[in-house]
Amino acid sequence: MYQAKAYSVASATSPFISDTIQRRETTERDVQIEILFCGVCHSDFHTVRDEWHSIMPTTYPCIPGHEIVGRVTKAGSAVTKFKAGDLVGVGCMVDSDHDCPSCKANVEQFCPSSTFTYNSPDKHLGGVTYGGYSDSIVVDERFVLTVPTNLDLAGVAPLLCAGITTWSPIRRWGDIKGKKVGVVGLGGLGHMGVKFARALGAMVTVFTTSPGKKEDALRLGAHEVIISKNADEMKAHAGSFDFILDTISADHDINALLGMLGLDGNLTLVGAPETPLQVSAFALLSGRKSLSGSLIGGIKETQEMLDFCAEHNITSDVEVIPIQKINEAYERLARSDVKYRFSIDMASLKSE
Ligand code: NAP
Ligand code: ZN
Repeated sequence: MYQAKAYSVASATSPFISDTIQRRETTERDVQIEILFCGVCHSDFHTVRDEWHSIMPTTYPCIPGHEIVGRVTKAGSAVTKFKAGDLVGVGCMVDSDHDCPSCKANVEQFCPSSTFTYNSPDKHLGGVTYGGYSDSIVVDERFVLTVPTNLDLAGVAPLLCAGITTWSPIRRWGDIKGKKVGVVGLGGLGHMGVKFARALGAMVTVFTTSPGKKEDALRLGAHEVIISKNADEMKAHAGSFDFILDTISADHDINALLGMLGLDGNLTLVGAPETPLQVSAFALLSGRKSLSGSLIGGIKETQEMLDFCAEHNITSDVEVIPIQKINEAYERLARSDVKYRFSIDMASLKSE
């Protein structure tokens, strides 16, 4: 074992503080990574505040972070894909059983014994896994991604969760070229959804509660913006969408959004509010609509997404912060005041 620097919280109501944690030495298949940037996902926030208590209770101390970009510092003897110096990424998962039907189908996120990057039982050290708000991490090479060298690294980090979480359902929906696609909530996930839908040729509309984000939505690639609190704007577009991606992190009126779909339209939820959403059967029956969900994406698909980003010069729009500003960043995340992802520069941890 060796010591790594990190920022942790001690309870659902505690602020982040500077901490020291144990990481395992690399085993045969492991890669040791010096973390350069880590994005701040709203899932980090839900977990830190124990908002998903009934489904995934948080074990403290908690060290979140699953949008990791770094450089390989050491590779185990059986590692074949990476060597010291390579730029790599780690997303929401660090292990799985490699053998179940989900793993065989390249959707490791649905493996019954997948290990998440933080707050998941740690098979090696006991306790729970610790995420990327740290200067170093050790990960099985099968869960390490190759990061394109032509992109800004601070903006690449969020691709490892916000990117793949929006890419996967959009690709799964089918060919969205020319289709009318809605992206609900212009935050970390939403702004990536807009970029991908636009790059894949869709007619993109953003639904936002924040009128101040309108200009940005258009700049990010939306053709249109609907202020979802404005009943007239909503009514004017009712029944017209083929596909809607809902990224909202809090309780909201899902039936109003289902009313925006046309015949056989689909709304896919990726947002994970802490309380259940109230779905009216009638919102689905009329127009034969469907409601589905999607959870991140498999490793193979994540690499495909990163390669697409390299080819199309796509990164997340980030506000780079030192780790010392993390408590302030969480306050702003709670107010939907992020343009459009915080990316922590881990060089700031060196001074702790
Ligand atoms: P984020 O950056 O905070 O963005 C969420 C956006 O939702 C906000 O910017 C805001 O957009 C909108 N919003 C927030 N509260 C709202 C409310 N009360 N009513 C209506 N709209 C509201 O969060 P994120 O990192 O993108 O994550 C979004 C959600 O996805 C979280 O619940 C997160 O846990 C979940 N998530 C799921 C997966 C998965 O695999 N399914 C992966 C990662 C994250 P506007 O200002 O534009 O209205
Ligand atoms: Zn995330």
